[in-house]
Amino acid sequence: MNMIFLGAPGAGKGTQAEVVCKELNIPAISTGNMLREAVANGTEVGLKAKAFMDAGDLVPDEIIIGILKDRIAQPDAKNGFILDGFPRTVAQAEALDSMGVQIDKVVEINVADEKITARMSGRRVCEKCGNSYHIEFKPTKVEGICDACGAKVVQRIDDKPETVQARLKTYHEKTAPLKDYYQSRGKLVTVEGQEEIADTSKLVLAAVKG
Ligand code: ADP
Ligand code: ZN
Repeated sequence: MNMIFLGAPGAGKGTQAEVVCKELNIPAISTGNMLREAVANGTEVGLKAKAFMDAGDLVPDEIIIGILKDRIAQPDAKNGFILDGFPRTVAQAEALDSMGVQIDKVVEINVADEKITARMSGRRVCEKCGNSYHIEFKPTKVEGICDACGAKVVQRIDDKPETVQARLKTYHEKTAPLKDYYQSRGKLVTVEGQEEIADTSKLVLAAVKG
């Protein structure tokens, strides 16, 4: 099964993608994580992407489409995958179509902007493996240390309040039109984000299996 998880920054699509991929034993492919890794490693892509990311803008389509295409060609994606953070523009969705990638379902996690800005300040991410946490809603077992790999968890540069506003604006302008794109193709399922992560997971799993 090939799926797309759609949602505003901070709506929890990454966290939910992780839950579902464990359940279905398929990889969750996060373009945000791949880009952060490229930035951390100082690769050519990372050098190009950093300024866009820090400003809350999207990385240009031609850069990200190439990365995604290579990633879904890997053997672990043969039996399906969850795309977390891709596509983010109609041009990216069209690129998937022209690659011949069949999408079974698009799960949108809907959370109001006001709730998002309040939540973002507590968000933390592992600087090594990219796992995400929240100081209140999804704390690490040991403060400041990633449960999965033991590296340090930090706040993302683009989780500063000003940048969060820019990212929300980018989402509404460039990414939200994908709801119509996939609705008209009969693929869209919308899940209302709940206060508790586990409650959202139940709704997401039901949507995925339904
Ligand atoms: P969030 O969903 O929390 O905003 P992500 O981790 O998915 O964050 O992405 C972080 C940043 O990486 C984005 O703000 C954007 O700059 C860049 N990015 C990730 N995926 C894409 C994409 N598909 N197209 C363009 N830019 C992307
Ligand atoms: Zn880690």
